[in-house]
Amino acid sequence: MTQTYAIDAIVVGAGISGLMAARLLKDAGKEVILIDKGRSVGGRLATRRIGTGSADHGAQFFTVRTPEFGVYVERWLAEGLVFEWSRGWTDGSLITTRDGHPRYAVRGGMNRLAKHVSEGLQIFTDVRVTAVRSHLGRWHVDMEGKGQLAASAVLLTPPVPQSLDLLEAGGVGLHAEDEAALKAIQYEMCLSAMLLLDRPIFLPAPGAIQRENANIHWIADNRAKGISPAATILTIQATGIYSRQLWDQPDDAILNAFRVDVMPILGEARVLEAQLKRWRYSRPSSVYPGRTLIAQSHENLLFAGDAFGGPRLEGAVLSGLAAGQVLLERL
Ligand SMILES: Cc1cc2nc3c(=O)[nH]c(=O)nc-3n(C[C@H](O)[C@H](O)[C@H](O)COP(=O)(O)OP(=O)(O)OC[C@H]3O[C@@H](n4cnc5c(N)ncnc54)[C@H](O)[C@@H]3O)c2cc1C
Repeated sequence: MTQTYAIDAIVVGAGISGLMAARLLKDAGKEVILIDKGRSVGGRLATRRIGTGSADHGAQFFTVRTPEFGVYVERWLAEGLVFEWSRGWTDGSLITTRDGHPRYAVRGGMNRLAKHVSEGLQIFTDVRVTAVRSHLGRWHVDMEGKGQLAASAVLLTPPVPQSLDLLEAGGVGLHAEDEAALKAIQYEMCLSAMLLLDRPIFLPAPGAIQRENANIHWIADNRAKGISPAATILTIQATGIYSRQLWDQPDDAILNAFRVDVMPILGEARVLEAQLKRWRYSRPSSVYPGRTLIAQSHENLLFAGDAFGGPRLEGAVLSGLAAGQVLLERL
């Protein structure tokens, strides 16, 4: 890939934080390119097709805790993109906790939100960044098998350990304080399974169970959620501790353990197909105290993502917006 035009900013990662940052920059007239190793945009806002149905296998829903994010959600609700799924979950007993906080989901699956934000942005998908370098005041990004791009600024949005690897590969050293803060950020693992069933099953309304003290802490019926009208697909997610315990086992062994766990819920239903997704970095268990980190060692090197804004979709959005705003002021 030979670069023949001037790029203001390269955003590594087209998850929701990178997309929100790029959207802000592009709408202000900046030249910005996103690069993602995934086949599509969205990162952990992941929806997969199985048979004739679909399932969310990363983020399941989102909440609104700040007016700033609320403005976006109001717009998405008005556009019919987002809907209120629930105001609480049952744990599988007869007790449903309704705490009054809306949980939102996305029509057609969580990934559609990322696709929506990505409209009109310049994005290279299926391209893995292998190193980020600083040379003569510009940022150079190496892309596996695709050459290099250069820009005035670079925003790193992958999970932090992966961002640090890219800088190390490019010989970029950070200020000791930044390095220590970034290395302190930890993530939970999550094993997430999708089971395609041969018939509908009953899960209490609105079609999901959240269990505090169980190895499998989340079970959702994507049909009841409204994103899989033609097929019943369950999404089953294990806690961080249970995911770590099972992590090194083969997929079949993990899927069997999950199947045994949810047997009482399946009843007569048969599993037609089972798929497993391993999220090594599912959610940060410790986060950076600011919404973005501006490197002290170099000009225009920034970090964003849910490890900065808060360990959830809203946090990733707010972090992307904060990083985009800083770059707007600088570029
Ligand atoms: C199983 C699971 C359940 C969750 N449940 C919820 C929930 O119910 N509610 C909620 O609010 N949040 C939930 N979350 C968290 C939520 O999904 C995240 O907070 C949010 O999506 C993070 O967005 P992000 O942009 O920070 O990161 P990501 O979405 O991870 O985006 C980073 C992007 O960087 C790309 N990338 C990484 N390395 C490279 C490279 N070398 N080259 C190119 N691209 C690269 C990745 O492909 C990815 O697309 C869940 C997450 C998981 C995994």
